[in-house]
Amino acid sequence: MATASESIAQWKAKVSLVGGTGVGKTSLIRRYVRDEFDDRYIITLGTKVSKRVVDLEFPPAGQLRVDLTLWDTMGEEFLRPTLYDTVLGGAKGVIVVCDVTDPKSIDPLMSWIDLGRRVRGDVPIQILLNKSDLIRSDEVVTRSLRIGRQQQAHCYLTSAKTGGNVVGAFEDLARRIAASTFAERKIEMDDVSHDILATTATEPRSVQDILAKTRVPLPALQSRLELLTCQGHLRVNSMEIGPDGRPFLKYVATGQGPAPAVASSGGGASRTP
Ligand code: GDP
Ligand code: MG
Repeated sequence: MATASESIAQWKAKVSLVGGTGVGKTSLIRRYVRDEFDDRYIITLGTKVSKRVVDLEFPPAGQLRVDLTLWDTMGEEFLRPTLYDTVLGGAKGVIVVCDVTDPKSIDPLMSWIDLGRRVRGDVPIQILLNKSDLIRSDEVVTRSLRIGRQQQAHCYLTSAKTGGNVVGAFEDLARRIAASTFAERKIEMDDVSHDILATTATEPRSVQDILAKTRVPLPALQSRLELLTCQGHLRVNSMEIGPDGRPFLKYVATGQGPAPAVASSGGGASRTP
């Protein structure tokens, strides 16, 4: 087990940013890639591609380096259906952005999620409720959360202006993309994963509850939670947005998924972090 976790895998993943006009897609990419913000509204013509590397700890698979290729687009009113395949084709993940101050940005959000599902099936989706530095609309929050729960999308309050949750939302997506890729491969379940399933067997548990039981570093825990979810062993039972603007998830074991490998009884010493 230890040898597998030493290796560093590197791969590329296309991520499409979509949503209505003026919700902050271009600003979010600029903040994430260059750590800058500009108050002017610059219309994005067609599509524009930027990149950022994410290093992930992904036990039990090992260290991962993901080259995110971020595809910026114009609002759908300008986008001809012939461009849908260019924008979404081959995307390993989709970020759907709405403006948290503006209920009118919800309809484009729903259309893009439908389109994303049609073109890319089950890829991970993140919903970014952007401009969280301004006064938010409860309607936008409530409706986005409802869609997020239906679509297994993680909802974040973000601000391209202050930078709030921007890095977190992109990195969570990178981790979810890694999990959906690894879920297709046969990865042996380790002691920590068994502990997670035992903890969530009887009632839904928050990440903090599971963290208290398993005592592994948070990123390592999150990777396992995503992997177990993609493999069908776990499911998200509820999602709210926490006071920090991040998704507050509770997980429950399904009692299903591929048969786990037999746990080693080595105790704490044999664990990967
Ligand atoms: P796009 O059409 O989705 O690419 O939207 P833009 O990124 O061009 O942003 C549209 C307008 O909203 C611009 O004037 C931005 O400066 C502004 N904007 C974008 N993100 C934020 C944010 O998080 N907070 C605030 N206050 N304004 C934002
Ligand atoms: Mg733009």
